[in-house]
Amino acid sequence: MINTFLFLLMHRTSISIFNTLFNTEVPRIILKADPDFTIQDYNEAYQIATYTAGKDIRGKSLWEIYDPKESGVEGTNLLLEALTKAATENIAVFMPPFHYDIPAADGNGTTKSWWQLEIIPIPGEDGATEFLLTTTYNITETVLNKEALEQVTLSEQQLNEELATSNEELAAINEELSSTIEELTAAQDNLFQINSKLESRVSERTKALSDTESSLRSLVMSAHYPLMILRGREWVIEIANQPLVNLWDKTITGVTGRPLMEILPEIEDQPFPGFLRQVYDSGVGYGQEEQIFHYNSPDGPATKYVSFYYDPMFDNEGQVCGIIVAADDITEKVRSRQLLEQSYKDQKELNDRISTINEELAATNEELSASNEELVDSKRELELNIQNLAESEARFRSLITQAPVGICVIRASDLMIMDVNNNYLELVGKPIGEMQSRTIWEAVPEAAANYAPVMNTVITTGEAFIANEHELTLIRNGVPERVFIDFVYEPVKDASGSVNSIMVVGIDVSDKVLSRKNIADIEERIRLAVEAAEIGTFDHDIINDSIVTSERFDAIFGFDGPGSRNDVLNSFHPDDKAMSDAAREEAYRSGKMYYDTRLIYPDGSIHWVRINGRVYHDEDEKPVRVLGTVLDITEFKRLQQQKDDFISIASHELRTPLTSLKASLQLLERVKDKPQATMVPRLIEQSSRSMNKISDLVDDLLNVSHMNEGQAKLNKSLFTISTMLNDCCTHVRAMGNYNLIFEGDHELKVFADEHRIDQVVVNFVNNAVKYAPDSLEIYLKVEKRGDMVRIEVRDSGPGIPAEKIPHLFDRYYRAGNAELQISGLGLGLYISAEIIKRHGGEIGVDSELGRGSTFWFTLPLEGND
Ligand code: ADP
Repeated sequence: MINTFLFLLMHRTSISIFNTLFNTEVPRIILKADPDFTIQDYNEAYQIATYTAGKDIRGKSLWEIYDPKESGVEGTNLLLEALTKAATENIAVFMPPFHYDIPAADGNGTTKSWWQLEIIPIPGEDGATEFLLTTTYNITETVLNKEALEQVTLSEQQLNEELATSNEELAAINEELSSTIEELTAAQDNLFQINSKLESRVSERTKALSDTESSLRSLVMSAHYPLMILRGREWVIEIANQPLVNLWDKTITGVTGRPLMEILPEIEDQPFPGFLRQVYDSGVGYGQEEQIFHYNSPDGPATKYVSFYYDPMFDNEGQVCGIIVAADDITEKVRSRQLLEQSYKDQKELNDRISTINEELAATNEELSASNEELVDSKRELELNIQNLAESEARFRSLITQAPVGICVIRASDLMIMDVNNNYLELVGKPIGEMQSRTIWEAVPEAAANYAPVMNTVITTGEAFIANEHELTLIRNGVPERVFIDFVYEPVKDASGSVNSIMVVGIDVSDKVLSRKNIADIEERIRLAVEAAEIGTFDHDIINDSIVTSERFDAIFGFDGPGSRNDVLNSFHPDDKAMSDAAREEAYRSGKMYYDTRLIYPDGSIHWVRINGRVYHDEDEKPVRVLGTVLDITEFKRLQQQKDDFISIASHELRTPLTSLKASLQLLERVKDKPQATMVPRLIEQSSRSMNKISDLVDDLLNVSHMNEGQAKLNKSLFTISTMLNDCCTHVRAMGNYNLIFEGDHELKVFADEHRIDQVVVNFVNNAVKYAPDSLEIYLKVEKRGDMVRIEVRDSGPGIPAEKIPHLFDRYYRAGNAELQISGLGLGLYISAEIIKRHGGEIGVDSELGRGSTFWFTLPLEGND
């Protein structure tokens, strides 16, 4: 058929046959047998298979249409190989089947398919291959059917194999079963044999048993010891022999066939029923060597000791059906053993007691021999002690005799003097004769009143009495003497602790006490002197640069409490520092310290002090300590300053009238030859005025010194004060500027030194003129106040500042108003005060700034008669 086709194709003789060949659902293509395998023609099925429907692919190379991706490289190579083979060898080639997964139309998944290619060469006119007709066959169905067949074949094979295995197993089981059946048959035979043997044995046993029971009965009954058989749970007494009923004081007939507990209800609370139950329940025999047994005998309750054994009896099923009781009456045996034990016990106790007594005896013996030894030792010790005692007494006596203090030993019972040494005799100032064979208070009666009670207390309490520097009067050699004694009443105790004697040890410390008292007195006097002088003291430790100061020192330095060395140094006025340092340096050399210096108090006020001290040096002449005093000399310095001021004022005051006197005298000298010169009387008057002034000043000065020396003698007389006041101060009245107005009692008289009182009033009035020049009225007032008369001079001048008032009557004090340069010595009021004081009166001033001043004094009115 192929050849025919090829022939047709080659000769193109029948196009219709060619069309028939192509008009099929099998994809077909004609390729040129050139190297590109150019597509010559194809059918519709081919175009569908190659997705080229509607395209003209004629003239294109097969490799342009063929998609190697779908059949893979291997497939492509196989196709090339097959095409080439068909073309070159000019033979038809069947390519082996290949597998191709057709993609689904919707793009989801693929459908398996298998294909096969048939390539038929179509020769040209030269006989060589010109075209290749390639037909593609879908062999999917064939392949799938083949696979299904293969699968069925495989399952069948497996089934066959499994069947063979099961067959083998069944054969093995079969074998086992047949051998088991054989064994079972053998065992059955065996069982038959055993059964028959057993049956014959049972019949033998039954016979033997009936024999045994009758022999058991005769055995029990003939036994020489108590035996019994109890049956069932009721413990019915089946058999009981004579010895057994004897045990209970019963008869065989009385008990046989009756339950045990009925025969012996009294054992209910005894251990027997318990043991019986135990044997019955456990099937194990039980016995006791010795058990007390209480029962009711015909004579009343009785006690026996028994030994027993309960043996269980079993029935054919192995159940306990009764108990064989074997017992023995061991009462006698137990009683005699108890007796024996008791006697053993008694014997042992006796032995123990004897051995205890023996031990005690041995101990006592040992103690005795030890005491004996001790006694021997004590005796030896005692002898030694006596010897020692004698020696110590001798030593004691010589100690007393030689002691540097007074010692007297007194017997406690009667206070007799037992021993006394010379020092004691000397202390109390008595000869030995007055002390021997006497009681202490007979010998020293002057001390009895104070010290007998003390000594009694020492004897009763046993506690020593120690007296320090007791002051007492002793009659020494007949003369009473005041002495200071240190002494001790020392109780001497015996072995029992009671006081058997008193040892009085005394020493005369009068000298010590007196000198100490003297020193204390001196110290006290010094202290008082220092205090009175308001002297502060200090102790400067130069090495440690520390200082100890007295209270007065601290007060002088303006400290609240004790000041340190630094505080002291810092108190010095800075301007005086160099001076005080130099003074100290000098003192360290010379040993004497003395200098005045200024201090500045914390409040800024300035104070003068005088430091006086002594410097102490060590062996190397190094200053180590200064002991010194400090004195507040502020007031002294102030007075000194005042005095200096006064001297300069006084000189100045004196110089003015002296200069004018000198000038007047020189002028008079010049005109002495011309007595008619007109200036003479004026010059004389001027001289006399100057003289008066000088004489007043000198009077004042004299008055002061007189006052000081207490020379101002009073020349008292009784005078009328108003008269004295009216006559005084003529110089002021003469000036005509001032009006002296009298006030008060015209009649009042006083007994006083009229001249001096006049001087006081003049001084007051002069001051009013001097210091209150604008007060043209000056009042003089006299009034009686109680037993005093008060005289006052009042002005309405500038007054006096309150702080100055207390000083007005001081010597040299001048209130010193800077604006008013008024001359004066500051003595007038001082002298006035002195005069009034001597009269026993008072002086004072009432003044306020801008309100004038009232100077006043009082005089006593007594002695007016
Ligand atoms: P002097 O010699 O200075 O007057 P006095 O002792 O008499 O001394 O007076 C002391 C001071 O008292 C005076 O310096 C003056 O300042 C003050 N003084 C005395 N009298 C008066 C007065 N009437 N009014 C004001 N000051 C007076």
